[in-house]
Amino acid sequence: MHNDIAEVLFTEDEIARRVDEIGAQITRDYAEATDEGIVLVSVLRGAAIFMADLARRIELPVEMDYMAVSSYGDGAKSSGVVRILKDLASEIEGRHVVVAEDILDSGLTLKYLLKNLASRHPASLEVATLLRKKTLAQAKIECKYIGFECPDRFIVGYGLDYAERYRNLPYIGVLKPEMY
Ligand code: 5GP
Ligand code: MG
Ligand code: MG
Repeated sequence: MHNDIAEVLFTEDEIARRVDEIGAQITRDYAEATDEGIVLVSVLRGAAIFMADLARRIELPVEMDYMAVSSYGDGAKSSGVVRILKDLASEIEGRHVVVAEDILDSGLTLKYLLKNLASRHPASLEVATLLRKKTLAQAKIECKYIGFECPDRFIVGYGLDYAERYRNLPYIGVLKPEMY
């Protein structure tokens, strides 16, 4: 275990098994869409690793597209400001869209994003989030696919960073508070 990690929450194996299950669930749920498939939208950069693994567990045509929004900056606290830094490359009108998120905390980022994507009239719009924090103040968001519920602590690994570090840890863990 990395020295800066206080506790491992989900091991590499646990993550792989859960991503497997979500992939199978998505494959079943969109079984009618075997021709057109789905568009997986990843919110950069935290969700990129989750989406890459998830895409390989979906047995349907999968298009991968990316958006970048400003949220936490480099720190551990939400700025409350959401801005699109990079938009999708493809049109999603009439497509089945699944947004892959790394972690749902306040839900503010995702709420804004979903409203924005819905205005482009996709055939359907769902969310797959790797993690959902147990917090009291969370925007009401319909999340069809949830990897794990996690404690309200600062989490890193498997795509999640602190100041751009720790994304490459193969597991999900809690960062030692003295690190930030
Ligand atoms: P929200 O808008 O739901 O509060 O959070 C937006 C983004 O902040 C998440 O998608 C994620 O990128 C980042 N974030 C929230 N909580 C954590 C956390 O515990 N660890 C890390 N590394 N990022 C987080
Ligand atoms: Mg995110
Ligand atoms: Mg971050």
